[in-house]
Amino acid sequence: MSFHPMLEHRGSKPIIIAGPCSAESEEQVLQTARELAALGKVDLFRAGIWKPRTRPGEFEGVGTIGLPWLKKVKAEIGLPVTTEVANTQHVFEALKYGVDVLWIGARTTVNPFSVQEVADALKGVDIPVMVKNPVNPDLKLWIGAIERIYKAGIRRIAAIQRGFSHHGESNYRNVPRWQIAIELKRLFPGLEIIVDNSHICGRRDTLLTVAQKGFDLNFDGLMTEVHPRPDEAWSDAAQQVTPEVYGREIYGKLQFPMPSTDDPRYRENINHLRHEIDEIDDELMALYARRMKLVEGIGRFKKENNIAILQTSRWNEILERGLELGRKKGLSEEFVETTLKAIHQESINHQERIMRGQ
Ligand code: PEP
Ligand code: MN
Repeated sequence: MSFHPMLEHRGSKPIIIAGPCSAESEEQVLQTARELAALGKVDLFRAGIWKPRTRPGEFEGVGTIGLPWLKKVKAEIGLPVTTEVANTQHVFEALKYGVDVLWIGARTTVNPFSVQEVADALKGVDIPVMVKNPVNPDLKLWIGAIERIYKAGIRRIAAIQRGFSHHGESNYRNVPRWQIAIELKRLFPGLEIIVDNSHICGRRDTLLTVAQKGFDLNFDGLMTEVHPRPDEAWSDAAQQVTPEVYGREIYGKLQFPMPSTDDPRYRENINHLRHEIDEIDDELMALYARRMKLVEGIGRFKKENNIAILQTSRWNEILERGLELGRKKGLSEEFVETTLKAIHQESINHQERIMRGQ
């Protein structure tokens, strides 16, 4: 796939999207847009017209009556607008009212029937489309949704990283799992990625940290929910901020690192450091291979003695030793656990091959 930039003529400037979770009234939409436009930093005004809510009976969006309000934002305030679409009717209505950019929500991305319906409704239409990640951490499903839109002939596509559902306690409303979006960027370097910090955080106090993380990862834009009276918002009240707070505490405090530089001194230093990193990675691979040779020896020995591969007490010992050592070396528990688990799984796989005589 070969993508075009979502908004034209911007160079490497970040794409800044802000606006309320939901359009609630003409006054609320226009006030938010006016205050955001005054910041002079916002490229696209967002507002949900149709809201996919977890339970019936919650506010499900004002529907089509809100579209003329968005039209006014564009005509009177000069901000292009975007809204979520999930079916053919949404697409037709949004296009009829001149919505500039469409987005596909996380609950729609999971469903290929719905994404295909939206894609079919968009055949022959030249409009940018943003595709949010699916609620579950499934990169293929995210790519599949992007492909469906691409196959409809749309080239101005961006991905939105809004985090993933999880079970149990978390500091996030939707855990970001940055590696998934990083992998998407690796596979499709030309695809712009926008971070939706509001739905990742679910609260106000962490919005800046998550937004900054996105720019530190060289992602391309930010989408944030902004409401003139956040506590009174009809949806997602806890994560919304006023346009003023957004301008001062979020946008105003962000740093936008450059993707790269031609400065020869920088290049020389970084190349030197990268060379050292490559050498360490080579050593790591050689060590892993040596470890696996030993593991295979153990596998053969277990086979001779008819002993099971998994020895829980030994695995516990390895993990605890590793965690203890990691703590002393300043490595995070999460990192130590993830790497040791991967090494352990690879060891089991090697021993299984020995056991099965492969
Ligand atoms: C939204 O952007 O308001 C929304 C419903 O988001 P998501 O699809 O990410 O849950
Ligand atoms: Mn929302």
